[in-house]
Amino acid sequence: MELRSPQTVNRVGQASGLQHRFQRSRPAGSRPQPARLPYAALLSLIATGAFGSEVIRIEARHDHLWKSCSGVLRLTDGGVQFEGPKHSFVWAYGAIQQLRLAEDDIQLTTYRDRLTRAGADEVYRFSFLKPQEAPWREIYARLQPALSGRLIAAVPITGGDEPVWQSPAKLLGRWKGSIGTVIAYPDRLVFRTGLEGQSYTWRDAGIDNISLSDPLRLSLVANRKEYVFQLQQPMSEEQFRNLWLRLNRAKGLEVIETYQKGK
Ligand SMILES: [Zn+2]
Repeated sequence: MELRSPQTVNRVGQASGLQHRFQRSRPAGSRPQPARLPYAALLSLIATGAFGSEVIRIEARHDHLWKSCSGVLRLTDGGVQFEGPKHSFVWAYGAIQQLRLAEDDIQLTTYRDRLTRAGADEVYRFSFLKPQEAPWREIYARLQPALSGRLIAAVPITGGDEPVWQSPAKLLGRWKGSIGTVIAYPDRLVFRTGLEGQSYTWRDAGIDNISLSDPLRLSLVANRKEYVFQLQQPMSEEQFRNLWLRLNRAKGLEVIETYQKGK
């Protein structure tokens, strides 16, 4: 939820991406560029593709505190842009603290204002105007390499390769859980459910920890959040051990395996 007026968001948002851009391209010895540019300058930057070439274009609604505006969300090779009727934003991938991708929206958190607002992060929400046409698989493929651990994929990336293990499961929630399937693929874990925004895909390298407290209770920590699954089919100790070793390998912790082999 945004805690400020749209005007403030607009000003800060414009400054963040551009400042980053100009500081990088400034020749040595020259004076720092102002953080804020006239709107016309921003538009011409976008029009000439100065922020990288357009890769994916999505019609989206930007939610304000009270109202919203509609515009075009672009994912380029440089970052994320939104161009609306009254304001535009540009964020380099490096300026994004966290991005949550669901089937019908993107929620973007920036690093901006963390110092000045005592921990209050800037959150922007863009809902896809035509969710049925939103290419979230392409969006995932574009954002995953650019953001890696900073991407929360609330989408099920299934298919393409064979699952190594799966079970119907309930993802426990604070109020009520969601019913779906936990699927282990060779390089990721997926929770797939028919409920929008409640599926997840976790790359091996993005999983901080997994544990099996009993054969029907699997929990996983990623992006500083714990996800607990009540499994319908038990996971054997061996299956869990294989998964655990694999996740640690993805983190580069080869010492564990070496130690076990040498025993
Ligand atoms: Zn707007």
